[in-house]
Amino acid sequence: MKDLSTALHARRTNSLYRTRQILDGPQGVSVSLDGREYLSFCSNDYLGLANHPDVVAAFHQGLDRFGAGSGAAHLITGHSRAHHELEEALADFVQRPRALLFSTGYMANLGVLAALAGRGNRIFEDRGNHASLLDGARLSGARLVRYRHADIADLTRRLESASSADSVVATDGVFSMDGDIAPLPALAQTAAAHAARLLVDDAHGLGVVGPQGRGSLAACDLGVGQVPILMGTLGKAFGTFGAFVAGSDELVETLIQEARTWIYTTAPPPAVAVATLAALRLVESEDWRRAHLQLLVRRFRAGAAQLGLNLCDSATPIQPVITGTAEAALRWSTALREAGILIIAIRPPTVPAGTSRLRITFSAAHTEAHVDRLLDMLEQTLADTNHAEHD
Ligand SMILES: *Cc1c(COP(=O)(O)O)cnc(C)c1O
Repeated sequence: MKDLSTALHARRTNSLYRTRQILDGPQGVSVSLDGREYLSFCSNDYLGLANHPDVVAAFHQGLDRFGAGSGAAHLITGHSRAHHELEEALADFVQRPRALLFSTGYMANLGVLAALAGRGNRIFEDRGNHASLLDGARLSGARLVRYRHADIADLTRRLESASSADSVVATDGVFSMDGDIAPLPALAQTAAAHAARLLVDDAHGLGVVGPQGRGSLAACDLGVGQVPILMGTLGKAFGTFGAFVAGSDELVETLIQEARTWIYTTAPPPAVAVATLAALRLVESEDWRRAHLQLLVRRFRAGAAQLGLNLCDSATPIQPVITGTAEAALRWSTALREAGILIIAIRPPTVPAGTSRLRITFSAAHTEAHVDRLLDMLEQTLADTNHAEHD
């Protein structure tokens, strides 16, 4: 049997040990941890909706109408009117015929890939894809082929060397750790030219990019004809919890018959769906949230460039600062925390070795003064750690 304490010890000495933070209040730009308030730059609550009064009030109303739990899987008696209305509203929002709610994005990716591909098929994935897309490919039993990040020529070469039916190409829309957007029109063209189905995971694009926040596909005007499978999550810009897959009637009916992570699990509480519907109304109507985010991102990038920080080529609210080693990422994160700023160090295997980073994310609830404070503290941390290195 594997010696657990040895493995845990090795993680610690390699700066790869993971720990949790315990929050004593709601998610927001200011969070309460261990009796201290921190200015946080590490949630995916991009639009500041996780604790929005309209969303919270809708959640309460949902509880009053539907109770706490769904009590069953969707195919038994767990599928409520609230779930159904949300599916219709989400399909409308992403301009696709149907949408199917999943409990989480992780489960949605596992369920879709395993339902659409299996032994004898191939799934082509960007090297920067989220873990759930990679795990979905593994679970499906199909052959997983990874192509270089955002590299259409590499994908094309790999598609040409394969001759299997029912291939799937899967990509993040906005990459979760780098913040860049996939070359979606070229991916759609390439997948179509090789008769492969394209799956786009838009967990970080929905609500944030595109007209009315309709996501990275709407931003490039790619409909269901070009991208047949869209996965979106509700725990990020929507501020609640859950996920959905949108596409044709046939796709959704296939998932209802075959997606095991949808069939064999309890439906989410209906009140979550009621709250999400309220969040959706804010997402589509409040453009100022996206405009403000863009302002914050530009301000941060300009300031960070002056400090000589190593940024990614990202125009989204995901603005990582690359530190290189895991040890440096931890050191920066700890120093910032002492200064009252919360940014989590992201280390391998979540990102490739040598590219450990502070994953900074902005929310529409941040102010320009918050960005300036972050830049000041980064400057100070940079000076202190450089000083330490030269001692
Ligand atoms: C967060 C995330 C998921 C998983 O979604 P959950 O609802 O949190 O399980 C899937 N894909 C990407 C790209 C993500 O960032």
